[in-house]
Amino acid sequence: MALVSSKEMFEKAYNGGYAIGAFNVNNMEIIQGITEAAQEVDAPLILQVSKGARAYANHTYLLKLVEAAIAETGLPICLHLDHGDTFELCKSCIDGGFTSVMIDASSKPFAENIELTRKVVDYAHEHGVVVEAELGALAGIEDDVKVSVEESHYTHPEEVQEFVEKTGCDSLAIAIGTSHGAYKFTAAQCTRNEKGELVPPPLRFDILDEVVQRLPGFPIVLHGSSSVPQQYVKMINENGGKMPDAVGIPEEQLRQAARSAVCKINIDSDLRLAMTGTIRQFFTEHPDKFDPREYLKPARANIKELVKHKLVDVLGCAGHAHELTNK
Ligand SMILES: [Zn+2]
Repeated sequence: MALVSSKEMFEKAYNGGYAIGAFNVNNMEIIQGITEAAQEVDAPLILQVSKGARAYANHTYLLKLVEAAIAETGLPICLHLDHGDTFELCKSCIDGGFTSVMIDASSKPFAENIELTRKVVDYAHEHGVVVEAELGALAGIEDDVKVSVEESHYTHPEEVQEFVEKTGCDSLAIAIGTSHGAYKFTAAQCTRNEKGELVPPPLRFDILDEVVQRLPGFPIVLHGSSSVPQQYVKMINENGGKMPDAVGIPEEQLRQAARSAVCKINIDSDLRLAMTGTIRQFFTEHPDKFDPREYLKPARANIKELVKHKLVDVLGCAGHAHELTNK
């Protein structure tokens, strides 16, 4: 089996009321943890690589690691460029074997966003690759993408139809209140529950509904959709870390989004937290150990558990990998 595009995945997810998990990958252990989880629960997968991940691990290493995961698991996997910011970067990934790219020109004026997205779509479609575009601006930090709360804004639903028609993009990321990173909201934006934990403002499902009305049947993407599991924040803080008031998107809201037109949900920070928490705890408990395999093994196992939970309980995509015909 080779890499697949996300086209059929999204058609099935849209009609089936679930979303595909798009997990960011940077190294072998993360790829193994994610793909072993998906194999166990028969889930289709999108593995995505940011510009920063590509700079860190090298395009060829990441591509070959993902190909190794396909050979080992037999899963349908789409390899996607996350937040491509130039035509050249997208072209390089298309030429280099990716099956999906994102062109994120959402920080540019509307007409420029359309122009650049159209250029990437034309090239990608000539090569059988699909394109995700973005309208609206999420707050937060993800690798090279940094947007302050003041600069962030929700997607304007009245723009989506024209944008999709003029660009020909295959899916659209929108801003409805998700955010990049582990500090998605300031304490001032949140309320506190009886346990004193921060409760973020709810996602703007009214905006999502308006977008869906204007683009019936069209796959929608949510970025910045980690839930920042408090068990891992606690594990980090109890073992020498310092992550006060890290807060994410409640999983019930993501489940609700997955039932609608949202076909792809991006998760990165949760994997980082699981890996870092596990390694910190290991070092606290075993200050004498120095073999990377010994601390990467439990980190990989916890990534696997976390991803399995997401696939089954949050995204609802477990059991659907074998239904894909374009394997
Ligand atoms: Zn993103």
